[in-house]
Amino acid sequence: MNYIDGFRNQDAAARYRVTLAQLGQEWADQGGRACFMEVCGSHTMAIARFAIRDFLPPSVTLVSGPGCPVCVTDPGYIDAAIELAMQGKIIVTFGDMMRVPGSRSTLAKSRAAGGWIESCYSPVTALELARAHPDREIVFLAIGFETTMAPVLAMLDTARRAAIPNLTLLTAFKLVPPVLAALIADPELKIDGFLCPAHVSAVIGAHAYRPFADTHGVACVVAGFEPLDILHGVEGLLRQKIAGHATVDNQYSRVVRPEGNRIAQRLVDHYLMPADVSWRGLGVIPASGLVLRPEFARFDAESRHGLTVQPGRLNPHCLCGEVLKGKIRPVHCSLFGVACHPEHPLGPCMVSSEGSCGAEYRFASGGVTR
Ligand code: SF4
Ligand code: SF4
Repeated sequence: MNYIDGFRNQDAAARYRVTLAQLGQEWADQGGRACFMEVCGSHTMAIARFAIRDFLPPSVTLVSGPGCPVCVTDPGYIDAAIELAMQGKIIVTFGDMMRVPGSRSTLAKSRAAGGWIESCYSPVTALELARAHPDREIVFLAIGFETTMAPVLAMLDTARRAAIPNLTLLTAFKLVPPVLAALIADPELKIDGFLCPAHVSAVIGAHAYRPFADTHGVACVVAGFEPLDILHGVEGLLRQKIAGHATVDNQYSRVVRPEGNRIAQRLVDHYLMPADVSWRGLGVIPASGLVLRPEFARFDAESRHGLTVQPGRLNPHCLCGEVLKGKIRPVHCSLFGVACHPEHPLGPCMVSSEGSCGAEYRFASGGVTR
């Protein structure tokens, strides 16, 4: 048995099913119902893949949140990236971004139309291209949550120290705690607990969720991505509800420290500062993003290339915004599995491997329509 198998053990999963049933009954006997949100796209994917919802008692609902960085990127950002590509800049992006709809088109279609758009697994690709093509401007699409910022900034740090002149970032960095605060404040949502994003937590630390527990009474559990991690996480959330006491339970201590990763935090603080940014389907959330500090403006694609990211136009029939807030399940979008499927995504939630719609289509719905 390898390390991963230990977290997928079926006997242990069966025991969690029994425990969750007992706790769920105890909670129901108190008249309780609980809605927990898994924030992270990787949790969403694992929950769909391992049919975790089948393990939940009737008194517990698990909804997906805005935890996929691709899904929450505003269409106006895609529009700006396409415009830069059409101006002759070399665009470098993580692969999932290629098929995300902007207001009118996608990066994949722009590449077919002649734009030089490279998909990459690592930001270092942008640095290599900048060195290989000193006569061209390279723009890296810097999207992501706290997890992705540090590797992107490490690449930028190398470029700055090496005085690479032709590399910029089009930033759309987003922060998890402010969006969770916005979801808690939404009167239409009633979230009782967060299954906190594992990798983000490794950077920001488990303590970052304390205000949600201490001030808002929302249960928080930091959990890993394996099925037993998630089941254990749900058990922890339910136990907090039954005890009537919200706290931050770090069940992923094999990776996450209370204070997070100080080195990554210092790198982020050095290059970036908070800004109000727009989330696809959720609108502008105060101080929910990070942008380059003014002293690093020469690495900022917007100021360097005289471009401002404008709000984009959403497909009016796509309900990604409601999916990202956990208000509806993907199958409740009338386009799910009909006009919108992984081969022909109409919204980012169907594009991304971490998107709720894509995960539900691939695993939960068996790839068939509603
Ligand atoms: S970046 Fe990490 S924490 Fe965020 S959705 Fe992806 S896997 Fe989850
Ligand atoms: S099914 Fe497609 S159109 Fe509907 S919410 Fe999901 S991604 Fe958007």
